[in-house]
Amino acid sequence: MAMFQNSLPDLTKPPRPDGAEAPAVYIETYGCQMNTYDSQAIGGLLEGAGFRVVDNELAADAVLLNTCSVREHAEHKVISRVGELRHRRLEADLAPAIIGICGCMAERLGDDLRKGAKAVDLVVGVDNYDALPGLLRGLTGGGNAARPRGGAVTGHRHDAHYVAPPELYPTNNSHLVTIHKGCDYKCTYCIVPMTRGPQSEKAPEVIVEEIRSIVAQGGREVTLLGQNVTAYRCGDRLDFAGLLEMVAAIDGLERIRFLTGHPHDMHRHLMDTIGRLEKVCPWLHVPAQSGSDTVLRRMKRLYTAADYLDMVDYARRVIPGVSFSSDFIVGFPGETDADFRATLELVRRVQYDQIFSFKYSERPGVPAARLADDVPLEVKKSRLAELMAVQQEIWSAAADTLVGGLVTAVCEGPARRPAGAWRLRTANNRKVIVHGPEVAAGSSLEVRLTGWEGTTFFGESRAG
Ligand code: SF4
Repeated sequence: MAMFQNSLPDLTKPPRPDGAEAPAVYIETYGCQMNTYDSQAIGGLLEGAGFRVVDNELAADAVLLNTCSVREHAEHKVISRVGELRHRRLEADLAPAIIGICGCMAERLGDDLRKGAKAVDLVVGVDNYDALPGLLRGLTGGGNAARPRGGAVTGHRHDAHYVAPPELYPTNNSHLVTIHKGCDYKCTYCIVPMTRGPQSEKAPEVIVEEIRSIVAQGGREVTLLGQNVTAYRCGDRLDFAGLLEMVAAIDGLERIRFLTGHPHDMHRHLMDTIGRLEKVCPWLHVPAQSGSDTVLRRMKRLYTAADYLDMVDYARRVIPGVSFSSDFIVGFPGETDADFRATLELVRRVQYDQIFSFKYSERPGVPAARLADDVPLEVKKSRLAELMAVQQEIWSAAADTLVGGLVTAVCEGPARRPAGAWRLRTANNRKVIVHGPEVAAGSSLEVRLTGWEGTTFFGESRAG
């Protein structure tokens, strides 16, 4: 049952003809939230095809690893995990499970993953998850795992959009909803265009229908997801600002977040729309990557540091209470000390709530791989440490000024720690932990902030 753009999944589970217990599949997710969403869609797809999705790898007949290729380290982790999975089954004296690799690594390496000592049984790329039931049925049909069948199914398909069944999750109380896939930008360090393919939009009607079914299930908040949601464009009739208008008009929906924006798409019209629509949370994750125009040009990011700062200043004028987060790469080929200082200068100027920073890691086949990776590892490490220290200084000062103040925050559920506490999130994406009687997920509380640690605040609820 392929899930194309215009249909929502039918989740009735056809009974197995032989009456045997449905084969069990365990799905493990790596990388970004697109993969989190895809893993949910894979789960729904398999359940619709008569499989059971289990949360324990040892109880599974098949294990699917939904993978990430954004950095070398991410791929190494998966390869060692394949060995670990096999070892743990041997230890538990269990028959070998089917092991499959999905996601970006599958798309990048394809059939090569079925060769060598850590060979897996099947490889399914990001646009071919509807092939999974057939492939798995072929492998798990008789309950005996040692067969040559399986295979590798990869290749981008423009129209393959998957819809995750809303009831399968609220994660963090904010339901993820992908609005498109792939990316048309050509940032020279990035492997995404190779692994996720060209940008392809989900039809706005499907997005609205998906969100309506989330609201019907009790969801009150969605996170619109894509490599570059701000680049969303459905023909000439609708851009991202227009899509936000459509989503904000859905009755019962209370909050809208989105991830990830691209500075090049953050037009004033879009920022005006975000500022005007109350349901759109005033938090912008807009990766700057560098503060140096020379490095930005070499990265093909299509904006300058001045453009970026102009966007930030304008957003602060038209989006009340807006907060920012960003990604940064240090040690990009040719980055001089002056270039790095420019990055620190931009970080000081924007005053981010949070940044995610990485040392440049060359990816095979990307345009930047033709550039000499000439910044020594020790320099990359020291620049990363300095950048994190500057950001910590900025955040500490900002967090101190917020302590004592009142915020409104929505409960996402019990906090991991301390016990008996509740995890809340403000509209501008600040985490708050409060102690006290049970708080229903999705409900709003007024909280007086009493302290902070890391990027989390502590507080007392005004409700008692
Ligand atoms: S915008 Fe650039 S960094 Fe982001 S996914 Fe596309 S190519 Fe990669």
